[in-house]
Amino acid sequence: MHGLALSTDLSTDPGSEQPYRYTRRPLVEPDWTRLPGWRDVTVVEWESAQWQRVHCVKNVRQLRAVYGDLLPAEFYTDVERDQQERATMSMLLPPQMLNTMVPDRVPDGPSMYADPVRRYMLPVFSDRATEWSSHPNASRDSLHEQEMWKVEGLTHRYPTKVLAELLPTCPQYCGHCTRMDLVGNSTPVIDKLKFSLKPVNRLDAMIDYLRANPGVRDVVVSGGDVANMPWRNLESFIARLLEIENIRDIRLASKALMGLPQHWLQDDVVDGMTRLAGVANARGVHIAIHTHVNHANSVTPLVAKATKTMLDTGIRDVRNQGVLLRGVNDSSTTLLDLCFALLDEAAIMPYYFYMCDMIPNSEHWRLSVAQAQQLQHAIMGYLPGFATPRMVCDVPYVGKRWVNQLEAYDQVRGISYWTKNYRTGIESTDPEALSRRYEYYDPILTLPAEGQQWWRRHGGDLEAATAAGHEQAAASRDAARRQAADPVSV
Ligand code: SF4
Repeated sequence: MHGLALSTDLSTDPGSEQPYRYTRRPLVEPDWTRLPGWRDVTVVEWESAQWQRVHCVKNVRQLRAVYGDLLPAEFYTDVERDQQERATMSMLLPPQMLNTMVPDRVPDGPSMYADPVRRYMLPVFSDRATEWSSHPNASRDSLHEQEMWKVEGLTHRYPTKVLAELLPTCPQYCGHCTRMDLVGNSTPVIDKLKFSLKPVNRLDAMIDYLRANPGVRDVVVSGGDVANMPWRNLESFIARLLEIENIRDIRLASKALMGLPQHWLQDDVVDGMTRLAGVANARGVHIAIHTHVNHANSVTPLVAKATKTMLDTGIRDVRNQGVLLRGVNDSSTTLLDLCFALLDEAAIMPYYFYMCDMIPNSEHWRLSVAQAQQLQHAIMGYLPGFATPRMVCDVPYVGKRWVNQLEAYDQVRGISYWTKNYRTGIESTDPEALSRRYEYYDPILTLPAEGQQWWRRHGGDLEAATAAGHEQAAASRDAARRQAADPVSV
């Protein structure tokens, strides 16, 4: 009896003294009929991908039709002003995603303003930082992916892997999208880049490049979101990848697994994925889906069902690449709650958390490298090692680096310095590519007063100097690329 009493006494349970306490929580699909606009929506309608796509919210008028008087008038005005003056992405919210935001999702839950999913999927003007809404060195294509296109939409940055941007649209648009230069509709402040080649020609050129470059073994099939590609076209592209001997890993990027799980539950998608997984397994190739979930509230029973359905087709894995965002998931508790919801309840492997990239108007979302390092430290030891996500910084002209890999760090000015151990696709003749130090910038609002003052004095100059330097570097890389006389390069 004594031993039993001790084992159930919380005061002696090691878990009770820990900074994080694990508690298993069942997933919940919030009741959509609580919202005025969806009072009469049936389960059959809700679980239909077609119904979800048709009823996406694309503007404030439609948002008001869903929430009505549950939201104050100033909230709608705040959203409208953001769309006009700051938003780099247009509004596109499937009901599934909107339904994971308050109000009244849970008793005593946060207000719409404080809701973590709302904070990044439905930005408001009053969220944005005022003095520094953009870092002076922010840029539209902050990772310089287009400079590294080998054919239009095919980025060859790392030695053995490529990113194939098949299409420029998604079923949902995230406020912080790193590919805001290309993805989605133009907004009042951002005129989007358009692909110039016809889709069929771009995809053919990608396949030709991969056939001609056997050093590439891994293809991230992305966009946009592959859930917006007609299934027949996507299956055909992946089937062609599976015929290329050197391709061993195929990763399909789809936030829709969370934002529109109904898509991945459709019969034609499930049947098609089963065919692809069968071929992949026979050839020893790994197909995985990489999704993008930033908060545990987004992990609902339908997300778990879609994931299980995809795993049952025979694909290798479903993994999550989240983004660290202030006010969304910038605490170890929120991150661990998310990772356990993914791992325990939905069979999704926590994998990466990226730092938010230096795109325009993203300063209020971004964290400093030091904060990311602290979060990495704080989540260690709770999850299994294989499911402990790495915090990574995507350093311009370098690529993903674990946040503890930096060479040097000026924490007053918020400048970290990084090196790399491979040449990107545009540096074959650059003698300094492996010895140069590359910079990444913390959000200025996180810096001490001295650092903020320095940026007030130097921000404009540095921005101009950096832009000029990048133009010069890009010109010399272009010349090098032309000299390389690659027959399939554009
Ligand atoms: S799903 Fe991905 S590509 Fe699409 S808007 Fe969101 S972050 Fe951008």
